[in-house]
Amino acid sequence: MTPDMPIPGHIDPVPVPRGVQPRPDGRVDLIGLTKDQLREALLSGGMELKQAKLRSKQIWHWLYNRGATRFADMTDIAKAQHPWLEERFVIGRPEVVEAQVSNDGTRKWLLRSADGQDYEMVFIPDADRGTLCVSSQVGCTLNCRFCHTGTMRLVRNLTAGEIVGQVMLARDSLGEWPSQPEGRMLTNIVMMGMGEPLYNFDAVRDALKLVMDGDGLALSKRRITLSTSGVVPMMARAGAEIGVNLAVSLHAVTKDVRDELVPLNKKYGIEELLQACADYPGANNARRITFEYVMLKDKNDSDADAHELVRLLRHYDLPAKVNLIPFNPWPGADYECSTPERIRRFSDIVFEGGISAPVRTPRGRDIDAACGQLKTAAEKKSRAQLDREAEEKFAALG
Ligand code: SAH
Ligand code: SF4
Repeated sequence: MTPDMPIPGHIDPVPVPRGVQPRPDGRVDLIGLTKDQLREALLSGGMELKQAKLRSKQIWHWLYNRGATRFADMTDIAKAQHPWLEERFVIGRPEVVEAQVSNDGTRKWLLRSADGQDYEMVFIPDADRGTLCVSSQVGCTLNCRFCHTGTMRLVRNLTAGEIVGQVMLARDSLGEWPSQPEGRMLTNIVMMGMGEPLYNFDAVRDALKLVMDGDGLALSKRRITLSTSGVVPMMARAGAEIGVNLAVSLHAVTKDVRDELVPLNKKYGIEELLQACADYPGANNARRITFEYVMLKDKNDSDADAHELVRLLRHYDLPAKVNLIPFNPWPGADYECSTPERIRRFSDIVFEGGISAPVRTPRGRDIDAACGQLKTAAEKKSRAQLDREAEEKFAALG
């Protein structure tokens, strides 16, 4: 495909918010509700106001601080009230379709929503921290040419409950309840799984607010990073209403190349994007903006590209660090990863320009754990399974 050919899919679709969805049995999942929404839910079930105020506080604490998944475990709530709650509400977790552990300790999960949509989550342990890579959508409308998630046809926004549910499930599996400030394995969260978080703004904001609440999961905003491909009009709101660290998927320094790699660039160009970064509240030298740059052989990896990257970041006077990501290939991708020597050289040039530019080490390659790769691996397997079945059928027919 040449850059002039039309890009499949929408460039800037209208995001469809997805509110609280009752389960098929009519019960409402409490995970994902704000404190106020939880009180409202109890009131609309018929609970009296004073009770609802008290119980919502207690239940909220059990959910997010203790990780309770059953009303029966909530010891300070009268036993007589448990059946009333159980009739109306559930405490959900995403269904786990597949869970794998890499030989480097990376864990990945393929998860399924109540309506049968699959999405993924990855946990990357390091010596002094553990990072959970969380999805914001099933698929992605933005069709970046090097990204496998962008090739998935089906797209739906995850609800706040499905987003915070990923964090809850990871805590379950790491045995990290009750929530405590010290000695955690899960210390950091990156919104770098499937989807564009700023196209699902409300749900991502509500979920991250739950994650940051000091009485609950209590992760500091300094340990949470939201990655965007450059949805410029939403960046100021992200800074004001969420306030977490910002990562921007830059990937190219010229209009032509970025138009090809990240089609959203046709709508919001590099200059506009970098200006929005310069205006991002809270960015300073202690809290720098991360610029992600995927290394694609002979596409965006020349010395001139590296020099231009330094020039641009300096021109906008950005407190920046650059994350160089070796391209993770997938079947049918149009690109190859740059050579290790090229990546090293690129990193050196940016570093000599005064900007830190570490190369991200690929993790969990044996289980294909890079973000955007997991769901497709499962689909591949089921297709392979289908092929085998078809062959067996033909063989049986003689
Ligand atoms: N939609 C958001 C966040 C999810 S993607 C965004 O684009 O920023 C998280 C990061 O993984 C992005 O920087 C994305 O460009 C990168 N990425 C996607 N596919 C990749 C691949 N095949 N190899 C390496 N990095 C990839
Ligand atoms: Fe979507 Fe990000 Fe992939 Fe682009 S890189 S298609 S924005 S998930």
